[in-house]
Amino acid sequence: MTTSTTEALMPFDDVLAAYDPALGLEVHVELNTASKMFCGCPAEFGGEPNAGVCPTCLGLPGAMPVVNGKAVESAIRIGLALNCDIAEWCRFARKNYFYPDMPKNFQTSQYDEPIAFDGWMDVDVEGETYRVEIERAHMEEDTGKSLHVGGSTGRIHGADHSLVDYNRAGIPLIEIVTRPILGAGEKAPEVAKAYVAQLRELIVALGVSEARMDQGNLRADVNLSLSPKGSGTLGTRTETKNVNSFRSVERAVRYEMQRHAAILTSGGSILQETRHWHEDTGITTSGRVKSDAEDYRYFPEPDLVPVAPSREWVEELRGTLPENPTARRARLQAEWGFSDLEMRDTVGAGALGLVEETIAAGAAPQAARKWWLGELARRSNEDGVDLVDLPITPADVARIQALVDEKVVNDKLARQVFEGVLAGEGTPDEVVEKRGLAVVSDDGALGAAVDNAIAANPDVADKIRDGKVAAAGALIGAVMKEMRGQADAGRVRELILEKLA
Ligand SMILES: [Zn+2]
Repeated sequence: MTTSTTEALMPFDDVLAAYDPALGLEVHVELNTASKMFCGCPAEFGGEPNAGVCPTCLGLPGAMPVVNGKAVESAIRIGLALNCDIAEWCRFARKNYFYPDMPKNFQTSQYDEPIAFDGWMDVDVEGETYRVEIERAHMEEDTGKSLHVGGSTGRIHGADHSLVDYNRAGIPLIEIVTRPILGAGEKAPEVAKAYVAQLRELIVALGVSEARMDQGNLRADVNLSLSPKGSGTLGTRTETKNVNSFRSVERAVRYEMQRHAAILTSGGSILQETRHWHEDTGITTSGRVKSDAEDYRYFPEPDLVPVAPSREWVEELRGTLPENPTARRARLQAEWGFSDLEMRDTVGAGALGLVEETIAAGAAPQAARKWWLGELARRSNEDGVDLVDLPITPADVARIQALVDEKVVNDKLARQVFEGVLAGEGTPDEVVEKRGLAVVSDDGALGAAVDNAIAANPDVADKIRDGKVAAAGALIGAVMKEMRGQADAGRVRELILEKLA
C-alpha cells in the first residue's frame, strides 16, 4: 500500500487543453426512518455499540427480514423528485462479499431492478444550467462500522486491532447514481459540487434525511475519467470514496483531473481503482483495485416479497413533492429582490436554504445574504467547512441582525457576536451579555466622552463651530475609540453638533 503524496499533477489549464473530463456521482442518502430497512431496530447510529441490533440485522440463522414501508415511500418520493420512472415491480438482491462490518456476508440491495430509474436534475452553475441524467436510485441497507485501533491514521493499515459496531447495519440507504456527465469541461469540479449541493437541498426539502455530510447521512463517491479532447470516448475511471463536504467534492474532481492527465501525458495508464480522499492534505491515495468483472454473485433476495407500488400510491406521493428546485429558485429570487448575480452567488455558496431560513426567522433578505455570504462564508473558508456545518443556526443569524436593527450592537460589534456564537459561547444575546458588547446610547456616558474628544481636539472643534460639519468625523472617531467601538455613532454625532452649535 502506498501513501505517497508526491504524485505528479498537471496544471489545470493544461489538462483542459488536452482532455475532456467525464464525471459520475454516486450519492448515498441515509433515510431518517424510525426503524431499520428490514427489522424494527432503531435506525439511529451512535449510542452504546451493538445495542441497536436484533437477529435480523445481525444475520442470525432463521431471522426473516420485512421491508420498511416508510423507506419505500421515501425512495419513491426521491425518485419522483429526480424525474425518474418508478418501477411497477422490483426486487431486492443479495450482493455477496465478505467484510467484517457486514454480518450477513451479503448486503441486501437492488441490482438490475431499481425502484427508480431514468431521471434527471438540472444543476445551476454560475448562471448556466447542466442537465445531470440520473441512471437509477435504488434501495439498500447500510453496513456496520469498524473502528481501527492503535494506528496513527484510523485506517486498518497499521492498526493493532479493530472493533465493530453493528448499530448502523441495516439502516436504510438510497443510492443515487448519475449517468456519465460529459461536456462540463473546465466547470467539471463546480458541476460536481453543485450537483451534490442541489441534491442535498432537494433531499432536505423532501424531509427524508438529515442529509448532514459531516455526519455521514449523505456520502458522495466521485467517478472521474479523462479522454483525449474531442475523441468522444470514455477513459478509464477512478472512484474516490466518501468525499464528505461540497468543497471536497470540487477539490477531489480537480485533483483527479490533474493526476489522471499527468499519468496519461507521460504515457502511463490509469488503474481502475477506488481512491481515498484526504481532507487534510487535499489529495487522493490508492484504495482497492476494482475491475468491471468484479462479481458479487447477485441473485434475487428469496426472503423478501417484491416491491410493487400501485400507480395510485405513486401519484399520491407525487402530490407530496416540494416545489421543483428551478421554480423555487425563481420564486425566491423574485420574493427577495435579489439580482441575478446575488442569486447565483447564494446558490453557488450552498446558502440558499440557509438564507431562506434566516429570512423566515425574521431577517431582511439583503441582511441574511450579507451575513451568510460575507462574515460566515469567510469563516467557512478559513475553517475548511461548508456553511451548513458551521456551528450557528439561521435563527442565530436572524437574531444578530435584529440586535443590529434594535441598535443594541452595531455592524462591527455584530462581528464579535458571530465570533462568540461560533466559538460556542451561547446564543447571540448571551454573547452580548457575557462579552459586554451592547452599544452605549445613554447620553450621560456619551456626553462625557464627547466632552473629552472636544477638549483633546480644540482645532477640530473650532472648525465645526465655523460651520465645517464634515470635520465631525474626526471627533466621532475619537469618541468611538474611547468607547471601544461600543457607541451609537448617530447619537454621538448629534451630541457633538449640539454642543458646538
Ligand atoms: Zn435489527
